[in-house]
Amino acid sequence: MNVELISIGDEIITGHTVDTNSVYIARKLAEIGLNVVYKTAVGDDLKRMEEVFYQAIKRADIVITTGGLGPTDDDITKRVIVKVFKRNLVFQEDILDDIRRRFEVRGIRMPSINQNQALLPQGATYLANRTCSAVGILIAEEGKIFVALPGVPREAKTIVDEELIPFLQGRVKQSHICVIKLRTTGIIESALAEKIAPNLKVPDTVRFAYLPSYSGVDLRIIASAPNKETGDSDAESVATRLRELVGEYIFGENDDTLESVIGKLLSERGQSLTVAESCTAGLLAGQITSVPGSSAYFERGVVTYSNLSKVELLGVPEKIIEEHGAVSRETAEAMVLGLREKYKSDYGVSITGIAGPDGGTDEKPVGTVFIAVSSADGVKSKRLSLSRDREINRRRSVYAAMELLRRTILEND
Ligand code: ATP
Ligand code: MG
Repeated sequence: MNVELISIGDEIITGHTVDTNSVYIARKLAEIGLNVVYKTAVGDDLKRMEEVFYQAIKRADIVITTGGLGPTDDDITKRVIVKVFKRNLVFQEDILDDIRRRFEVRGIRMPSINQNQALLPQGATYLANRTCSAVGILIAEEGKIFVALPGVPREAKTIVDEELIPFLQGRVKQSHICVIKLRTTGIIESALAEKIAPNLKVPDTVRFAYLPSYSGVDLRIIASAPNKETGDSDAESVATRLRELVGEYIFGENDDTLESVIGKLLSERGQSLTVAESCTAGLLAGQITSVPGSSAYFERGVVTYSNLSKVELLGVPEKIIEEHGAVSRETAEAMVLGLREKYKSDYGVSITGIAGPDGGTDEKPVGTVFIAVSSADGVKSKRLSLSRDREINRRRSVYAAMELLRRTILEND
């Protein structure tokens, strides 16, 4: 069964409120095997809401709206339901009793406009809300299910958890969803697709997607099946094929991060790490130490932004900087050699580059970054050509350095 979610409110479409309701509801539905196929947002406008409701009922089996259910004049969802479903509002004594009771408990006089909340479209049932006066509205007929929920996230959440999900669970064919995320880095999305697409058969019950971010591209597999065993094995067989095709770029799965994977590798081997950063100025150290327990392997990080600091703190020969420049393969290597020698660690990592937006030359444009890794087995370095954006350059340098370190640790085994 397909679901459309509709988020209602001027504040949603103008960008003043982030639409968290649809995110929450979509996740909850996925857990019980229901697919959201459309998400729509619409302002508080009778005509447009009407159009959106019609369209949704036509193209989805289950429609869930949030917002505009309150008692005030700006809340018009109920009026739209009345129009679209062509029925009257009927007064429900039990809802009013319920609302009255809640006001009594709080010791507040009930404003008369709250009586509006006891009006329900004919033939609808209501989804009670333990925490406040707003109730959800449910219309189930002709094989379609229409649900309207309040906009306040806490209220929507309570009704979803306590009323809607149990209701839908009883109605829909149960299916099991298995999600596997393979995390890659060091390769762009299109290059991955070039290796994967011609060689991967994805069964109808499995959805496969590329999800790019700063740290790399995640390969996400979602399998849905009538039972757990089938779902797990469908997803796993796609994952196995992907590991064969692009395994060298996969650094971890699901909740793994590059920094957590590196932490695990170093801990297992009882090895230590130091870092020297120029253009990232501590970002790498920050990322490495975002992992709980990183003190077991992280010895120290030095920020050597100026030439002088590279000489003083890392023992980089002045001659190298003069001859090749602070941003050069030679300087990156000298930084990491000095680092390991001075501060004694199994691995050292260095980063030096031109983050931008200024400071580039023809030979070394903005986005030119050198990274180096040193261990007892020698020094490895790499030139990166990133973007014109300072923030992106700094972040991607950190990930590239971590990936070079990860590969070096594995190669040294
Ligand atoms: P109320 O009974 O409080 O009036 P309502 O059902 O009428 O509830 P709205 O008036 O549309 O809901 O929104 C109430 C609050 O919830 C607003 O602060 C709004 O910004 C927030 N809200 C509405 N929709 C969403 C959404 N999709 N995601 C997150 N917050 C939302
Ligand atoms: Mg409101």
